[in-house]
Amino acid sequence: MKAVLFECFAETPKLATLPDPEPAPHGVVLKVGATGVCRSDWHGWMGHDPDIVLPHVPGHELAGTVVATGKDVTRWKAGDRVTVPFVGGCGACPECHAGHQQVCHNQFQPGFTHWGSFAEFVGIHQADLNLVALPETMDFATAASLGCRFATSFRAIVDQGRTSAGEWVAVHGCGGVGLSAIMIANAIGANVVAVDISDEKLELARGLGAVATVNASETSDVAAAVIEMTKGGAHVSVDALGHPATCFNSIQNLRRRGRHVQIGLMLADHATPQVPMAKVIAHELEILGSHGMQAHRYGAMLDMVATGKLSPDRLIGETISLEQSIAALTSMDTFSSVGATVVTSF
Ligand SMILES: [Zn+2]
Ligand SMILES: [Zn+2]
Repeated sequence: MKAVLFECFAETPKLATLPDPEPAPHGVVLKVGATGVCRSDWHGWMGHDPDIVLPHVPGHELAGTVVATGKDVTRWKAGDRVTVPFVGGCGACPECHAGHQQVCHNQFQPGFTHWGSFAEFVGIHQADLNLVALPETMDFATAASLGCRFATSFRAIVDQGRTSAGEWVAVHGCGGVGLSAIMIANAIGANVVAVDISDEKLELARGLGAVATVNASETSDVAAAVIEMTKGGAHVSVDALGHPATCFNSIQNLRRRGRHVQIGLMLADHATPQVPMAKVIAHELEILGSHGMQAHRYGAMLDMVATGKLSPDRLIGETISLEQSIAALTSMDTFSSVGATVVTSF
């Protein structure tokens, strides 16, 4: 098969010809129909992820067609159109038994713990547990865009944040994750305040349903501005960027008993940000995380896509070829594209 391979961190990957994968007994092999290019792939390529063993094939936001199944697989057959969360469960640990595969003790992450989907074919483990059937009407590019940013935002707003209609939701950072969170919160009837430093992104946020915006580069106290707009603070607030400043503001702008959900990754020297803990206690705030979403929760999200309440296709930017994915991957830190870049030809 054709695949993007890197043998050293931070050196330009090459387009290689590799043996086709064989399915594990509990796994399947998919013919990749689309795979998203994500900043997590860039971090992996740079050597920031200890799970990656060289040589490596990146790619974790994928959708495709089953072409081979292991002997123990009962739910899937060749020809099925599927996607997969970026965290797959092992099926055997206490968290998997409790239905929380997104925090499994022995995670299967294509493109990190195993070879990923910047390739014509990819193997997926524990297929009966981890695969999600696609609606016939959903194209592969849209499906690939769900697995990482969109599903994590869905879990953050719906399951972790427990957002309900009429509540105020503050979204800090209006990149792909933040715009997803805005679309989802708006769809379930919440009132969204979007925060960013770019007027262009705030305009996109308004287009996806934000009823108010704060330009953080022109506002001395972002939390105070959100508290004023929401007449007392947000019920739910998310840091969709992953930065000490947005994390702090997201907690600081909550009303009493509000819920902060951290979606943006906190890496390296950002890993232990300052938290206004006195306010967490006095106002009984909740601090939550969101780490992908388990396969068995995809149905709720896919139904909202099928009925038109959510339109993840609006967040797709450029579609490119596997060959072009090398430049897209290596320039991820310098090139800020509007919308997700998705590989659709292999
Ligand atoms: Zn991703
Ligand atoms: Zn597990």
